[in-house]
Amino acid sequence: MKLIEVLQSSPTTLIIVLTIAGLMVGSFLNVVIYRYPIMLFREWRDMAKEILTEQGYKISGTANEPLLDDKQFNLVVPRSRCPKCQHLIRSWENIPLISYVIQGAKCTQCKTAISLRYPAIELITGILFGFLAWQFGWSWQTLVYLVLSAILVVQIFIDIDHKILPDPLNYILLWLGLFAAYMGWTIPLTDAVLGALFGYLSLWSFYWIFKLATKKEGMGYGDFKLLAALGAFAGYQQLLLIIVLSAGVGAVIGITMMALKKTERSTQIPFGPYLAIAGWISIFWGKEIIDLYLRSSGI
Ligand SMILES: [Zn+2]
Repeated sequence: MKLIEVLQSSPTTLIIVLTIAGLMVGSFLNVVIYRYPIMLFREWRDMAKEILTEQGYKISGTANEPLLDDKQFNLVVPRSRCPKCQHLIRSWENIPLISYVIQGAKCTQCKTAISLRYPAIELITGILFGFLAWQFGWSWQTLVYLVLSAILVVQIFIDIDHKILPDPLNYILLWLGLFAAYMGWTIPLTDAVLGALFGYLSLWSFYWIFKLATKKEGMGYGDFKLLAALGAFAGYQQLLLIIVLSAGVGAVIGITMMALKKTERSTQIPFGPYLAIAGWISIFWGKEIIDLYLRSSGI
């Protein structure tokens, strides 16, 4: 039998193959999470430079180190190095999870500790991919949800690191969600379109009410776009649940961090990760959660 036939006919094989693929994709996501913001910052810097030069300003270079370096830098080039000793990562040092364990969580050359975050992101992606294979089997739906999950992982960690949700990623999700609904792979198209529309408008209005009332900015525009994208996958019926869940998750994590004295009360905590987690949960269990709530409250 050909590999594709095996994957189609054996759910267990599909789960195993996609879990391993997820670990490898997770390893790539680590690269994206680190490099993509740097690529964006460079692009923005060059754009700003161009506009300012056109207007007659003199620009002197004072950017940060990775930005200043004008050598080719993208998701593929150059190859990864240890950030401390510049030791080139060889392919056997780049096997998801396994290399981390074999190397004892240290760089093979300078023995600097490697952050637990790298294997954690590989493991999370592997589990998400395996879960989707288990739930949806060999289908277009699975493929769409794999892309959704991978991009959400990237958005979550870029938002934690830089407090931005890059627009191009929000738009890929938004269009993918609408397209998948149009193709009949996920939810009815009307639910998806209204989900995207009201997702954007709800946080947009909240932002302006909060700003007029407190003169502070409670969240960024990226959050509206992310909720619009999530709405295209979950449908407008789930929007309220996503907002309530993310506020709930946010409160729990925020209070825990404050209790552990890891953060001050006024520290800005990005909202994107909570939205992404709540959105992901609502896409797959939203209906069940809402039903359970309505039943338990006797409505
Ligand atoms: Zn090193």
